[in-house]
Amino acid sequence: MTTTTESTAPARTPIDKEALLARYRAERDKRLRDDGNEQYLQIKDQLAHYLDDPYTPRAEREPKTDHVTFAFVGGGFAGLVTGARLNEAGITDVRIIEKGGDFGGTWYWNRYPGAQCDTASLIYMPLLEETGHMPSEKYAHAPEILAQCQRIGKQYGLYENALFHTEVENMTWDADQSRWVIETNRGDRFTADYVGMGTGPLHVPKLPGIPGIESFKGHSFHTSRWDYNYTGGDPKGALMEKLADKRVAIIGTGATSVQAVPHLAKACKTLYVVQRTPSSVDVRANKPLDPEWFASIATPGWQKRWLENFTANQGGDIVEEDLVQDGWTDLSRRIRARIMELPRDKMTPENMMAAFEDSDFEKMEEIRSRVDQIVADKETAQKLKAWYRQLCKRPCFHDAYLQSFNTPGTHLIDTDGKGVEKITEKGFVVAGVEYEVDCIIYASGFEVGTEWTRRAGFDLTGRDGLKLSEAWAEGMRTKHGIHVHGFPNAFFVQPTQGANLISNVPHNLTEAGATIAAIISHAQKKGAKEIEVTKEAQDEWVALLLTGMGRMIGSPDCTPGYYNNEGKAAGPAAKYNVGYPAGATAYFKYLEGWRNSGEFDGLAFR
Ligand code: NDP
Repeated sequence: MTTTTESTAPARTPIDKEALLARYRAERDKRLRDDGNEQYLQIKDQLAHYLDDPYTPRAEREPKTDHVTFAFVGGGFAGLVTGARLNEAGITDVRIIEKGGDFGGTWYWNRYPGAQCDTASLIYMPLLEETGHMPSEKYAHAPEILAQCQRIGKQYGLYENALFHTEVENMTWDADQSRWVIETNRGDRFTADYVGMGTGPLHVPKLPGIPGIESFKGHSFHTSRWDYNYTGGDPKGALMEKLADKRVAIIGTGATSVQAVPHLAKACKTLYVVQRTPSSVDVRANKPLDPEWFASIATPGWQKRWLENFTANQGGDIVEEDLVQDGWTDLSRRIRARIMELPRDKMTPENMMAAFEDSDFEKMEEIRSRVDQIVADKETAQKLKAWYRQLCKRPCFHDAYLQSFNTPGTHLIDTDGKGVEKITEKGFVVAGVEYEVDCIIYASGFEVGTEWTRRAGFDLTGRDGLKLSEAWAEGMRTKHGIHVHGFPNAFFVQPTQGANLISNVPHNLTEAGATIAAIISHAQKKGAKEIEVTKEAQDEWVALLLTGMGRMIGSPDCTPGYYNNEGKAAGPAAKYNVGYPAGATAYFKYLEGWRNSGEFDGLAFR
């Protein structure tokens, strides 16, 4: 049976929705596994070498035993933008503690060939206006983003106090002194008036729990620790000449693999791309940015205007202009256009959902037909098609990934949703066939479904000995995603329970950074030593969050992945992983008003 939503739009090629949904279900079902998140290996013990830093040698130093105003865990975007805003507010002794050898966070670690941002640089790269940097491309490559992180670090004096190659092990509130005591794996034991947490969502690499993974005798590494000594080439995309005589397997076909495969396909003698679930790969259309054009748009306040315009386009607000024009705004504008085609008297929530679904079906059909247009081998093309709704998995955009499968030495090894059977001394096995390789590259992603404290590597001990893991045992509880009752002078810099704008995470972080700087300035002016959200204010905020529509991504109907807890029931805590019910634009406006009012409603200053 063919059904389409009633609309005033011109006739489109009808889509057999029932057949499509049946196909989506069948593809999902064959990927469901009982072990969910447990299928992945935590990298430790004999596997610990997969975490070694290939980029910067570790420098010896004396342990720190001093006092700073602000200590921040994580030297990625969150720490950098918070540090910058604190510096602007006159708080200059900010100490960033970072497990990598420099600033950059995800962009420190992810130097795999082809790494680039997936949201337009002009809104993705933080503090462009403040640093005066013009991105060279619409979607900048990783070395340029890392350089922007370093630029921020230098401009705001964040290097002097930073502790690199250092991991926090304990953070304990000292109620007598109204300060935090921070202990690290480098023997540091110092104190701070305030602490910030910017540990990021995707920073602990994971390996697939494939039997025999430890037995492989060739070379292997995770994409976030790219071994250029072995491959040759560099993060800027120079040919990896040392792979010319190598047989290489890359396991995984998520957003990382999609960007790395074209470079491997050019370099390797033989490349096996081992797939469990195909990604949806839409058009990228990257281009250099024109300095003259940039000068015309970069008038004072431009980045804020661009950020707000993108967020409004994402949120379904009625916005005439789409300044950013990238894959994300295309997606949301299409959905909105489809809904607006409904006659006024048919604008019911059901019809709107159906219009949303129609738009998704059309988009995915386009993406699947793009595979046929590009990939010469028909069988390979069939296997590269994604059978799920677009937001079931991270959407990808690339103009060379699918083309790689037309390269003679590149072979797609599709595992029909089952994954690699085993790893042997010589290679890997799929459907009973052993493929011998010299190198295995794990593009197997990062821990997402595990506890915050496991990913952070430490727990916080707040007032009266309360641990953060206890406070959040039933799920995350905060005000604005920033403040947690029981943890005075501690601030979390991340999107959840705030705007929750996942398509452009840096926007959440810059707003949080500005808010924290305003709060601390206020406390200093008042002479308050402690800042803490009241229990009532936190409860009220959480209750407000729960009035929203819930999570828009991660439906259990989806093919398993980290968006939907690997297809397992998400548990009661998952309902707290949401944002402001009225949407990101409304949240940012609300937050700006909240901090500018100078009242900081809900916080107690003592
Ligand atoms: P993902 O978690 O997205 O992908 C992991 C891949 O490994 C999947 O294809 C997965 O298959 C596959 N896999 C896991 N276990 C097995 C197995 N046993 N056998 C075979 N294959 C297996 O990790 P990524 O590093 O690609 O991306 C993580 C996130 O990082 C992205 O979603 C995105 O948010 C971010 N990112 C952002 C980029 C950007 O903005 N520019 C670029 C790259 C990443 P399956 O799908 O079946 O689970």
